[in-house]
Amino acid sequence: MKLLLASRNAKKLDELQRIMVAAELHHIEVVGLDAVEEYPETPETGATFAENALIKARDGAAHSGWVTIADDSGLTVDALNGMPGVLSARWSGQHGDDEANLQLVLAQLAEVPEERRGAAFVSAVAIVIPAELAAPETLRSHDLDPEIVVEGEWRGHIIHEKLGENGFGYDPIFRPQDADGRTSAQLTSVEKDARSHRGQALRAAVPVLKDIAELVG
Ligand code: IMP
Repeated sequence: MKLLLASRNAKKLDELQRIMVAAELHHIEVVGLDAVEEYPETPETGATFAENALIKARDGAAHSGWVTIADDSGLTVDALNGMPGVLSARWSGQHGDDEANLQLVLAQLAEVPEERRGAAFVSAVAIVIPAELAAPETLRSHDLDPEIVVEGEWRGHIIHEKLGENGFGYDPIFRPQDADGRTSAQLTSVEKDARSHRGQALRAAVPVLKDIAELVG
């Protein structure tokens, strides 16, 4: 079975391929958006990570005809009522400006005491099966839906100053609760994958992908 990852991020493609190999799903060939003809992408205007992941996965499935997987993720800060949330990539107003985004969160939390600096990275992974591959009644008889979303959450808290050089985005200011006091920017990519929101969500997607591959071949 061919599985399209609706992302242009080479690191995400590597991570998904590694997880497929670890799960011994050798019969699933993971390809990225480079493998399909370019198509106009629907803006990610969803109110939740799940909606945005679905927007990307639906687009990919409709244009490729392949089973498509997509993720959407971000940082949710308790003291900011769950924001930046779906606005994580453009929190400072500049899309993808990691430094400005994390500096804004640090400034917003400047007066917030330790016990209220809780936060989590969240990832939603959506899988969409195009109707031409399997009719809805066939899917239902195998306990599958044409659209499936699984989520992962990685709890921790926001520190006061940047620490660590690895990762991206908010990693230097996020101290996960399961990283021996290190920030996620001080973890190796292997250590991060084993704990992270995206790693958890992708691993939760594995049994679903296995069932789909058995059905559509
Ligand atoms: P996307 O899902 O790749 O579009 O990520 C959205 C935004 O959330 C990124 O631009 C980062 O700011 C933030 N983000 C998501 N996952 C992580 C992570 O693992 N570390 C740090 N920041 C993240």
